[in-house]
Amino acid sequence: MLYLSTRGHPDRKHFCEILLEGLAPDGGLYLPERYPQVDAATLARWRGVFNGGASGGYAALAYEVLSLYIDDIPAADLKALCDKTYTEAVYGTAAIVPLKQLEKGFYLEALSNGPTLAFKDMAMQLLGNLFEYELARRGEELNILGATSGDTGSAAEYAMRGKQGVRVFMLSPHGRMSPFQQAQMFSLMDQNIHNIAIEGVFDDCQDIVKNVSNDLAFKRGYKIGTVNSINWARLLAQVVYYFAGYFQATTGNDQKVSFTVPSGNFGNVCAGHVARQMGLPIQTLVVATNENDVLDEFFRTGVYRVRASADTHETSSPSMDISKASNFERFVFDLLGRDGARVKALFGDALAREGRFDLGGDPVFAEAAKHYGFVSGKSTHADRLATIRDTWTRFGVMIDTHTADGVKVAREHPNPAVPMIVLETALPIKFAETIVEALGREPERPEKFDGIEALPKRVQVMPADTAAVQAYIAQHCPRT
Ligand SMILES: *Cc1c(COP(=O)(O)O)cnc(C)c1O
Repeated sequence: MLYLSTRGHPDRKHFCEILLEGLAPDGGLYLPERYPQVDAATLARWRGVFNGGASGGYAALAYEVLSLYIDDIPAADLKALCDKTYTEAVYGTAAIVPLKQLEKGFYLEALSNGPTLAFKDMAMQLLGNLFEYELARRGEELNILGATSGDTGSAAEYAMRGKQGVRVFMLSPHGRMSPFQQAQMFSLMDQNIHNIAIEGVFDDCQDIVKNVSNDLAFKRGYKIGTVNSINWARLLAQVVYYFAGYFQATTGNDQKVSFTVPSGNFGNVCAGHVARQMGLPIQTLVVATNENDVLDEFFRTGVYRVRASADTHETSSPSMDISKASNFERFVFDLLGRDGARVKALFGDALAREGRFDLGGDPVFAEAAKHYGFVSGKSTHADRLATIRDTWTRFGVMIDTHTADGVKVAREHPNPAVPMIVLETALPIKFAETIVEALGREPERPEKFDGIEALPKRVQVMPADTAAVQAYIAQHCPRT
């Protein structure tokens, strides 16, 4: 399997070549040349693999999916990487992504049982093991520099802690993450994990990461890399749980399901799109946004409009607070019949010039719903409170604010003939303040997190200054 850029660059690359890269050289995103097709016999075999007890299960299913896309890691090694990643010890449940039925035909798929209690662990845990494997094979090292306001940074740190050949330098806005999120990140004592609290806001952290990445001599000299959501390996890892959700909600492969996905950067739901293109019987993919409704606007009108910082709202589902959806270009590439020149004109030129483009009048726009099954909806703070309350009162299930956005929008797209699976993207303990506002009580806390706020913290506070961050990195890793 070879990978190409969404903007038409002529190069084709293998999986491990793009694993450690960010964007393609022309600024596009990587996608496989074609989506491998899962026929009826394979789907039946995979259902058996997933339900197959000791030798089967989620890890074995992950191997089946990944092996269709990765031809430059020997099969036995890839199998070992999957087995090492998706374990009961890491996810606290043998099912890894158990389905919870709220009512008949309406399910939550639990993707938040990993080390940091958000769905990003599902992909990041695999990425950590893939990075360690590939860096060892090449005899190289990598220094991951990132900015976080919460979920991404902690998922990356828990995935990379103690890994050979990898260091993490994670910037976060000083004093602005929830106490639980700060405790999660700052209590890590691993020597290869560096928490840097910047005296500023999240945008200041992101600006520093951008400045460092634009300093090409520094970037090369110190082998700076990233783990952001445009990484194809992360997206690929997420494809697996769409199959796992399907096998749990159905008894035979002649049935269809729909998924609702709380969305920000369009990474999670793009994995659903890939699963559907492979042949998984998905009826509808419902994109749920919060007040930052870039994606809802597109699926309603065909207009894709990047928001200015002043128009980007701080909400109570903060991991969906985006001004643009960085993975969206992948879907538009497919929607436009994989016309790289047109994608380049839209994402490279029109967005840079005008901050928007409009496909509303184009005949392909109708295909988004008709051929690709996409619909959308949006949810507000008041909707989240009402949905958290309703789900707790009627079913005794406590959901987090992001999942609540999903449940709210899922209910606007009922179809009695097709089961609906809402992806649960985080646990309520991460967003305690809003749970207390909705329910008047503290969220449930998994036992292993008892008292983490009191643990010693390892964090370096620094001014919002690129040179200071570069000096810190230089001090903590050998120049190669
Ligand atoms: C990252 C995140 C999202 C958004 O996922 P995308 O892949 O960016 O669409 C939703 N919910 C939670 C809890 C997250 O951490």
